[in-house]
Amino acid sequence: MPGQRSAPPRLDAIVCDIDGCLSPELPRPAATHLLARVSDHNRRARETGGVPPLTLCTGRPLPFAEAMARAVGAFALPIVCEGGVWVLTMDPYRWEMDPRITPEHLGLVREIEAWAAAQFDGAFLEAGKAAAVTIFHAQGPDYLRRVVLPAVQTRIDDAGWPVRAGMTWTCINIELDYISKASGIDRVLAATGLAPDRLAGIGDTMGDLAIRERVAWFACPANAHDELKAHADYVSPHEEAQGVLDILARLSHREGR
Ligand SMILES: [Mg+2]
Repeated sequence: MPGQRSAPPRLDAIVCDIDGCLSPELPRPAATHLLARVSDHNRRARETGGVPPLTLCTGRPLPFAEAMARAVGAFALPIVCEGGVWVLTMDPYRWEMDPRITPEHLGLVREIEAWAAAQFDGAFLEAGKAAAVTIFHAQGPDYLRRVVLPAVQTRIDDAGWPVRAGMTWTCINIELDYISKASGIDRVLAATGLAPDRLAGIGDTMGDLAIRERVAWFACPANAHDELKAHADYVSPHEEAQGVLDILARLSHREGR
């Protein structure tokens, strides 16, 4: 049974996924009153140092991550965006694409976008992605899983493209095979000197194993994928942002805090 291991006595940061954790997985209004409480946590971290700051690690495009960073006051540490393509810092305000991404591979991403848009009637691509392709479909996730994903995988295999394709709750992500949340977190660790044994993490889908593998203590909200919950030190009984607040409370009320 996952779920009841205590966090290390000293933590320097909390690395948190966005969709399914801070914001709803499906398009619904964000629980802004709960995000305000996450922002209060980050203000406490900034002003007193008494709690570890929460930072973000998301597959979403950089502008979405920046908006969420402003909402939850995640200004203390770099933010992983677009599944590792970008590392964004809010203060000072700057962002860097993974320097290993070549112009040729950026061209390949544009080629895959054009192919996907032409190939799948009813498909639409997530706006704002710089070096990845995310496919939604008018007929929904089940159609994507049954029809589109196998065709995408066949095309990748036939073309020998250096990318991987995977299904989330709602869409298909096609990403360069050397870019991931893991590579993004590694860039953050290198830039900040943060050490995995002093980090906590929060996630809800199997892509967040990259967070799990780089933190000492990992938690999930109640809505997380069961397969990921098996890797968690704590599973909150609450969903999404309420779950994140419950996890923050556990990390903030420990001995010595
Ligand atoms: Mg998520």
